[in-house]
Amino acid sequence: CGIVGYAGARPALGIVLDGLRRLEYRGYDSAGVAVVCDGQLLTEKKAGKLANLEKVLSERAAEDPTSCAASPIGIGDGTTGIGHTRWATHGGPTDRNAHPHVAPDGRVAVIHNGIIENFAKLRAELEADGVQFTSDTDTECVAHLLSAALTELRAAGQPDAPQLLAAAMRVVCQRLEGAFTLLAVDAGVPGAVVGARRNSPLVVGRGQGENYLASDVAAFIEHTRDAVELGQDQIVLITGDTIEITDFDGQPASGKDFHIDWDS
Ligand code: GLU
Repeated sequence: CGIVGYAGARPALGIVLDGLRRLEYRGYDSAGVAVVCDGQLLTEKKAGKLANLEKVLSERAAEDPTSCAASPIGIGDGTTGIGHTRWATHGGPTDRNAHPHVAPDGRVAVIHNGIIENFAKLRAELEADGVQFTSDTDTECVAHLLSAALTELRAAGQPDAPQLLAAAMRVVCQRLEGAFTLLAVDAGVPGAVVGARRNSPLVVGRGQGENYLASDVAAFIEHTRDAVELGQDQIVLITGDTIEITDFDGQPASGKDFHIDWDS
């Protein structure tokens, strides 16, 4: 339903939660976030309103003031993050079905808008390989596939640069049918968020030393009004300083630059 991603130098969690709040009018049944902090992935998700998620995050920060969840404002210091509000299509509106979905290694997190139409086939294949699912969503198979693609690319010698994340997302997208906006982060690739889209909206917000991804410009309009609308079947990789767009085959591509001049 609502999707926000941030890569830059400021703490991501507050920015992502603010972005989700700006998308709140769409309605949703759960909310979740993932932040990369000191080579670790911090995720939290909760059924119900954003306030439920925020409560859990502040409790978690209070319990362990040394954790990544803690900071003077109690919402984390990692500067790369993604957040999602879910409109359930596959699986009930529960904590376990909330996004992000995390691969079993605890290092890769994925959020998704839309429907992966061939998810049953992908899930059966993954389960036949011994993968255990922890949700009823169509989305979870993307987290497993992305984690496997990252492992394979690393084994083939690709370094832990942001481009690794984009390369892995391309491998996964070639296997997906349906409509999707996907965002993902990996604990081993700090500073980067990858996005992909087919038949579902995704826009980039261009900032100064920081960049945004969102399902709707409303999520980042208080930070920047320079945006790029992605085309069909494109992958976008953001870091604080770069925005790289390719198609699903890895060929360089470009989105449509625009300036948001209406009042927020
Ligand atoms: N199909 C996914 C799910 O049910 C994504 C739903 C959405 O677009 O929020 O979890």
